[in-house]
Amino acid sequence: MTAMNKTDIRNLSYEEWTRYCASIGEQPFRAGQIFEWIYKKGVWSFDEMRNLPAPLRQRLSRDFDLKPLVIVQKQVAQDGTTKFLFDLEDHEKIETVLIPTKTRTTVCISTQAGCKFGCRFCASGIGGWKRNLSCAEILSQILHVKEESKKHQKPLSHIVCMGTGESFDNYDNLLKALRIVNDARGINIGARRITISTVGLIPKIMEFAQEDFQVELAISLHGYNDESRDKLMPVNKKYPFTALMNACRAYIRKTHRQITFEYILIKDITCTEEAARELAHHLKGMICKLNLIPYNPVRELPHKPPTHEEMQTFQRRLKALGIHATLRTPRGRDIAAACGQLRHASRKSKEMA
Ligand code: SF4
Repeated sequence: MTAMNKTDIRNLSYEEWTRYCASIGEQPFRAGQIFEWIYKKGVWSFDEMRNLPAPLRQRLSRDFDLKPLVIVQKQVAQDGTTKFLFDLEDHEKIETVLIPTKTRTTVCISTQAGCKFGCRFCASGIGGWKRNLSCAEILSQILHVKEESKKHQKPLSHIVCMGTGESFDNYDNLLKALRIVNDARGINIGARRITISTVGLIPKIMEFAQEDFQVELAISLHGYNDESRDKLMPVNKKYPFTALMNACRAYIRKTHRQITFEYILIKDITCTEEAARELAHHLKGMICKLNLIPYNPVRELPHKPPTHEEMQTFQRRLKALGIHATLRTPRGRDIAAACGQLRHASRKSKEMA
């Protein structure tokens, strides 16, 4: 390892730290100490790692980087939802959202800079895909929000991968980061409190079913059949609705875990009587949860949210058809809280400058 290609200290798993320590003649317990400084004590410099001998601290700073993400914007909504726009080393921007409630504090993280999937209701897809985030960049978002969450009633307790990017399109880095999040020696958040969301990359859903990792899986469904999903989500051409539903059933059979379906409510498109009927038909008998998400408008896109009454009618129709659905309360409406809006605004203002 040379000074030219230093990796970030948060790119290493516990096992990799153990191997690194052995390679430089240090005892294995040093790996535990380093992990503790990074993830339990949340330090952002090698000098703060006070129980490490000075020569080891110097060696670490020669071999690794330990840089905080730079906050370029922070918006706090009346309900406490806090949105961060971070600047990465190559000046790509990413969004991260802290969502506090009376019972929990959740962080919604980004997994990619931009997104290649171009869902027609989402600001994140507008500027296209730039690159995958590293394991360190994923973990840094969580560490920043963990620090920020100390200002709220509850410490950080839940992670959702529903920010910019398609989680399973950055599978290896994301899973490596989440294993550190879940590790009792790391951030120590239970697997059941972590949710990965995907637009439905079927091969990755099947790969994930084989993992020995009890993380929750959410599918961004947002359509009730092939035709409706085709209109909103280009990914449906590659992984059609019926094949996706079959993959979800196979996942449930293999893991015995429930799937959460995320379903966006867009006026006159996904919130109709036909939509309720078809959705209920496809979900009947599945071990699943269904979340109804009111559309959060994006200025450049034509869609509108239904009225509250229309959303409640949709929920009632589903109930009459035997499907229990939760209507989610919009959070942070007074800030640009929909996925990708802050990042998109920042890119636009740079283009206009
Ligand atoms: S909804 Fe998710 S997958 Fe679709 S464009 Fe937005 S970030 Fe990408």
